[in-house]
Amino acid sequence: MDRNTISIDNDINLDNFQTQVDDVLIRHRSILDIITKLDEYTSRINRAVIKSATYCGCIEVHATKQDYNKESLEEIKNNMENHIKGKLCPSCKDILLEEIGAYLFYLSALANTLDIKVSDAILNEYKNIKTLGIFSLK
Ligand SMILES: [Zn+2]
Repeated sequence: MDRNTISIDNDINLDNFQTQVDDVLIRHRSILDIITKLDEYTSRINRAVIKSATYCGCIEVHATKQDYNKESLEEIKNNMENHIKGKLCPSCKDILLEEIGAYLFYLSALANTLDIKVSDAILNEYKNIKTLGIFSLK
């Protein structure tokens, strides 16, 4: 893959993606199918993360109690652990990209069915976290 291809791939417009989803979705067009497909791909994403640790071993999960005993939110944020040691190997990353992509497909399908623009949802969320900053407490 050359540099131009990467640039073109990264310039995909979210609204165009949502329109393309609407154009190709045939078999699972019912809201019932879409919702259950979203559940399925949430599980598949979680399974892919777990298999990266338990089957591949490129990442390890070392969970411990989070330390909230700090002076400020900034200090708490900077000391929170994600509990992952290591990095995804290219193979596990490819699997996760595929599962996340399928999830986004069905999320876009859900939005299409309910006449919601995914880009509006992202923009609303962006405004909220931008306004509240660290106080959004997510
Ligand atoms: Zn791996």
